[in-house]
This record gives sequence, structure tokens and C-alpha cells, in this order.
Amino acid sequence: MTKRGMLIVLSGPSGVGKGTVRKALFDQPGNDFQYSISMTTRKPRPGEKNGVDYFFVSKEEFEHNIQTGQMLEYAKYVDNYYGTPLKYIDDTLDFGKDVFLEIEVNGAMQVRSKRPDGVFIFLTPPDLMELKHRLIHRGTDSMDVINKRIHKAFGEIEMMQNYDYAVVNDKVDNAVEKIKGIIRTERLRVPRV
Ligand code: 5GP
Repeated sequence: MTKRGMLIVLSGPSGVGKGTVRKALFDQPGNDFQYSISMTTRKPRPGEKNGVDYFFVSKEEFEHNIQTGQMLEYAKYVDNYYGTPLKYIDDTLDFGKDVFLEIEVNGAMQVRSKRPDGVFIFLTPPDLMELKHRLIHRGTDSMDVINKRIHKAFGEIEMMQNYDYAVVNDKVDNAVEKIKGIIRTERLRVPRV
């Protein structure tokens, strides 16, 4: 029987650099885990592609997927839905491959309650002012959206205690190395009976 894959969840406040760290991790050679592409109702940003960055869907389609039990988790985040399609995750884990999710904190806690054997990693900003600068510097959101995201971030940082690991995103390369170290260590864990 194939050993079931490991579910790895990277979460943390918006603007902490989860997306950048995840992309840098997946750019590394010899990566042997799969990225779960999320579904969202938000509009694509310039350069984003359907089926690569996200599955971009309508609100009706997303709600249909929730009602028919097709989402492992979902959250409404700054007026849009974001969620993880269930089938891809289960098929990939059953196949023995590890799956990597990069999601916001409410969704991560839903996964924690449904899949407690997952590995939960919290990415933290060096400090909150830097978080604000990063959001502004990214230049993709209005000030109103930035302020909503900052407000949300304070609550999110308190949620760190619900995770297995905390990784400070001081430099992307450092964060990537730490995450690779966590995954290497978790793969050595003696299975619990
Ligand atoms: P953005 O709009 O900047 O791409 O993403 C906004 C937030 O949604 C980020 O914190 C991102 O990690 C989170 N996110 C992306 N995909 C998912 C998902 O499938 N589920 C949940 N709960 N959050 C997600």
C-alpha cells in the first residue's frame, strides 16, 4: 500500500509574503511536493493566469462548490471567497505525494480541525510597520483595502499559537530554507500508532 502523503499548510497574515515565499520554494530544483491551486472569486491581477495562480470563478460557482461539499476549506476574505478544492488534495495524498497549501488563517484553522495530522507553519512579519509598507509597496490594493488587511493582521498574529512552527520572513531565502528544514524533519517523524 502506498504511504499517504503529508499535508503542509503555510499561513500567516496577508502581506507577510506567503505568496513570494511559496513561489521561491517551488522555484527550487528537486521539489517533490505539489502545490494546491486555490479557487477564488477575486478578479485576476495583471499577469495572473487562470489555473496557474488561482482558479478564478464566479460567486455563484464558488457557492455551488461549497454547497456540494467540494471544498476542504474556504474563507471570505476582504469581500471575496478563497478556498481549497478537496478532490485534488485527496487524490494527491492518496497517491503518496505531499501537498502544500498557502492560505489565510481562517481557512488554515478549518484544515487543522479536519486534518489534524497536517503540518501547520505560520509565517510572521519581522514587524507590523514593515507589513504595511509591503502592502503599500505592492501597489495592487487601494488604501481602504490596505487598512482592512492591516486591521485583520493584528488578530491573525495572535493565532500563531495554533500552529506547529513559526517562521519569521526576514529574508525570503531564509524563510524558504527554514520551511525546507521543517519538511525534511517532518518526513523523518516516526508514525504514531
Ligand atoms: P490575494 O488576494 O493576495 O491573492 O490573497 C489574499 C489572501 O487569501 C492571502 O492571505 C492568501 O494566502 C489567501 N488565500 C489564497 N488562497 C486561499 C485558499 O484557498 N483558502 C484560504 N482560506 N485563503 C486563501
